[in-house]
Amino acid sequence: MTTSQFHYLNGVLHAEAIPVTDLIAEYGSPLYVYSATQLLQNYRAIRAAFAPIDPLICYSVKSCGNVGVLKVLANEGAGMDIVSAGELQRALAAGVSPDRIVFAGVGKSREEMKQALAAGIFMFNVESTQELDRLQAVAAAAGKKARVALRVNIDVSDPGTHAKTATGGRHTKFGIPLQQAQELYLSTDRSALEITGLHIHLGSPIPSPQTYTAALDKVIEVIAQLRESGHDITMVNIGGGYPVSYRDPNGTDVPSIGEIGARICEKLHALYDQGVKFAIEPGRVISANAGLLLGSVEYVKQGWDRKIVILDTGMNSLIRPTLYGAHHPIWPVRYEDYSGSWGVYSTATAGTEEMDVVGPICETGDFFALQRHLPPLAQGDVMAVFCAGAYGMSQASQYNSRPRPAEILVEGARASVVRRRESYKDLLEHEVDSL
Ligand SMILES: *Cc1c(COP(=O)(O)O)cnc(C)c1O
Repeated sequence: MTTSQFHYLNGVLHAEAIPVTDLIAEYGSPLYVYSATQLLQNYRAIRAAFAPIDPLICYSVKSCGNVGVLKVLANEGAGMDIVSAGELQRALAAGVSPDRIVFAGVGKSREEMKQALAAGIFMFNVESTQELDRLQAVAAAAGKKARVALRVNIDVSDPGTHAKTATGGRHTKFGIPLQQAQELYLSTDRSALEITGLHIHLGSPIPSPQTYTAALDKVIEVIAQLRESGHDITMVNIGGGYPVSYRDPNGTDVPSIGEIGARICEKLHALYDQGVKFAIEPGRVISANAGLLLGSVEYVKQGWDRKIVILDTGMNSLIRPTLYGAHHPIWPVRYEDYSGSWGVYSTATAGTEEMDVVGPICETGDFFALQRHLPPLAQGDVMAVFCAGAYGMSQASQYNSRPRPAEILVEGARASVVRRRESYKDLLEHEVDSL
């Protein structure tokens, strides 16, 4: 397993070579901090794990779509997985080559299709018959040919993930039921489309390689049947959902990307030898542990039966704890004279006390951690919420009219602002007509 780029040195948490206390002093609180080195380390581990089938690696923009982050990955050759025209704009702004962009999502508008066709993206992952008809019409009108993968719902009923992020089962809105998809592949009346791809995305995260291999067995069977009926599939996109550890910097509690990649490549090697091309759509496995959320203690108060620590940010910056019941490590950025990994949060017991760490938002669901053991905390202490890079800032809101935090990208001893802190002017910007 790769080492974390967030570690304590002489009692101070560092992002690569920079004490995060310096970042707070310079850029204020709350703050998202990303490590470019960690992003690259994660991306390269995926490339190595899947090397036997040499896939197009399309980073899932929705996991963390900051253009500065996208640039780091684009410069390394990554493609992008987008789910809206807004994400297309982000990918293009980051300099991603359009022929490395795939477009998923159940609700693509005509306008979004037009923009993606004009940009010349690699492939549309189509999720319904009506969407296929619309894409045919839009592509024909534009005089373009659209490359299509049908997103097939093969009914993987138990991906072992949270109900809100399971996307492969028959009761979800995602994909085209298998039987329908097989019929669509064989219908030939869509002249502006080249329907040679098959896409699956089973959920996020998928804790077991077994879920992928079971789904791929089905995919392999379907491709064989289609070939017998005279329709060739030349591109298989196996989606994302690769797990990360939200508890352990060494990731020992989830299967590694190396292990998952090996199992998947083993399954797909025969198709690879027959000339089939592959794509994957990793999101969180690249961005999650490459990002921190820093917040500061406003108050420590004693409730009826518990100690409550109130930070200057909460579910408005990171909604995962309350939305998904997600566990995020949290620990003060200054801790005694400790040097070592952020895993200290799970092992340190001496002098700790159980408390709730919450935000300022007027909702009971606004918390980072409940009944967590933490060392003594005081007003002004800065806290780090670890593994916050994925589905953190990308799901942040201005709820309670709180401007969103700034985002900082660190590489070695260099830090750059990749998104400035929102101002109160930003809050009111779109309401100027009513002022
Ligand atoms: C969200 C999403 C992904 C990425 O999921 P991760 O768990 O972040 O890897 C990939 N593909 C599609 C279609 C998605 O919607």
